[in-house]
This record gives sequence, C-alpha cells and structure tokens, in this order.
Amino acid sequence: MTLPRRQLLLSALAAPALLSAPSLHAQNTPEQEPARPHGAIQRFFVGDIEVIALWDGFAQLPNAFITGFDQASALRAANAAYRRFDAESSNVSINGYIIRTAGKTIAVDTGAPAAMGPTVARWSDSLGMAGLSFSDIDTVFLTHMHGDHVGGLISPTAAATVPHADLIAAQAEWDFTFDDGIYAALPEQFRANFDFARLAVSPYKSRFNGISMERETEIATGVQALPLPGHTPGHMGLRVHQGTDQLLIWGDAIHFAAYQFMQPDWGVLFDSDANQAITTRRNLLEEAAADRLRVAGMHLDFPAVGYVENAGGNYRYIPSSMDMQI
Ligand SMILES: [Zn+2]
Repeated sequence: MTLPRRQLLLSALAAPALLSAPSLHAQNTPEQEPARPHGAIQRFFVGDIEVIALWDGFAQLPNAFITGFDQASALRAANAAYRRFDAESSNVSINGYIIRTAGKTIAVDTGAPAAMGPTVARWSDSLGMAGLSFSDIDTVFLTHMHGDHVGGLISPTAAATVPHADLIAAQAEWDFTFDDGIYAALPEQFRANFDFARLAVSPYKSRFNGISMERETEIATGVQALPLPGHTPGHMGLRVHQGTDQLLIWGDAIHFAAYQFMQPDWGVLFDSDANQAITTRRNLLEEAAADRLRVAGMHLDFPAVGYVENAGGNYRYIPSSMDMQI
C-alpha cells in the first residue's frame, strides 16, 4: 500500500492506531529499514537540582499542521534560526526531562510510542544513558496527555512500565482526555492520539494525582507546576528553582522551533484553544526574554535547553552551552 506523502505524515502523527496494525517499519524489508537514531542526554543543574534532558527522537510533521503558516515567512524564520527548510514538512524534536531533587526522581513526559514511527521512542534508551531505569522513577509529571508525551508509560503489551510511580498532571487534562463528547467531536485523524493517551495513562489511574489549573502547585522541593492552558485545557509547565537559579519547562508552548520564535502567533491544528495558546506562548516568551530565564521544552531542538531574546518585535532562541559541573 502506498500512501501519498501527506497522508503518511498525518498517519504518523495519529500513529498510535498503528499499535493494532502493522507498523510502518514492519512493512520494510531489513535492507530498507531506516537507521534508527540513538538516544541522547544532556545533564545540567538548577542550583543543586539535577536536570537531565532525554531525547526521544524526532517526528517529521507536515507544515500543514501549522496555523497561520506562510512559506516566505517560514523560510525567513528558518534562515534566521540557521535551520534547514523544507516547504512541505519540518523535523520536530521530542524530549522529556528528569528532575532529581530532595531524593526524588521525577520524569517529565515520557516520549512517543514506537508505533509513531522509526525515528521516535528512544526515551527509555536515553533514560539508560543517564544511568537510570524505570524503577528509579518516583513520579511522572505529564505536561499534558497527547500521545507523543505518554509513550514511555506502557510496554508494547500496554502494561505500566513504572508501576510504582505516582502520576501527576492537571485534573482538567485527565477529564479532557476521557471526555467522550470531546472525543466524538474530534476529527478522525486525531482520535488515535486520544486512544493511545487513554491506553497509556489508564494503568496509573489509582496512582493519579490530578492538580488544579487555578494556581501553581508545588509537586516536589523546588518544583512548581504552572498552568499554561491553550494547547490543551490541562496543559502545564514546571518552574524548577533553587536560590536565584531557575528553569522554566514550558511543555508544548513551542512545537515548531524553527518558526515560532519569529512567528509566535503561529499555532498548531491540534491546539484545543488557539487564541489562548497564542497568549500563553507570548506571555512565556516575553517573561523568558525579560528575565533572562533558562527555558526547556518538549519540542525544542535537542539538547532542548536555552534562552529567549527579544528580536525586532519577536523572539530568537539561544541554545544553552553545556553546563560544565559535576
Ligand atoms: Zn507534543
């Protein structure tokens, strides 16, 4: 079966449906099997709090997913960011983070499921590269419950991979994910994403701690959950802080790192509230630039930690240098 390229890419995002179907790479002969990326990590510190960025891989997403997209502006943004430009699609990194504070190890998102394609699902490899295993994780914090953030929560047989971990996310996100009315109204192509999210978080139901979107909530020493609604109703970030040192993990405030710093009003088709997502993104960018904040995000280019500068009325991303500490 040959799918048009666009349809193939749409299928890849909606991918979790492929869990019950032959996977994309299973259709290839061994000679055609594309090289799979290795995991990657980047370790840094916020005061004494250890943070490790874990690379899950990347997804090739159609530019048609971007609301407001125009090719001339995209090319300009990609050039300004020294990024390769393709008129049809863009490579989007998928990242998770580990935070180690006060004897606790917190996983922040867990990457995409293997069924999403051959270039993702390296999260557990990266965890191993960091010298950690599933049993070291005390808490999983989810910025939200889209499929590309919950992949590491379950095995190929849908068993919990971190059965003793508490799961923390916004209660509003859990309610949104399991709302049958919202599900029924979804375009067909986005349903598989919800199907997989439901499958992945369900084994953790008895250990789920749903937190409020009305206020910031301390989830561990020096770690505050921060409501960032728009991309989904329960989308949250984290502020990690010790003394004057701070890190803002902004979840999916940015999806297309090549463009959205210069075009912060561009969103993605799967933002549940497009205007609110833009407001949230602009507020974060403005705060990060004004306060010289270190930022991290689930779709920033790996190693996915850096800074934001004001640039001609918009913004520019400055990747962080390696944090040389032991
Ligand atoms: Zn995402």
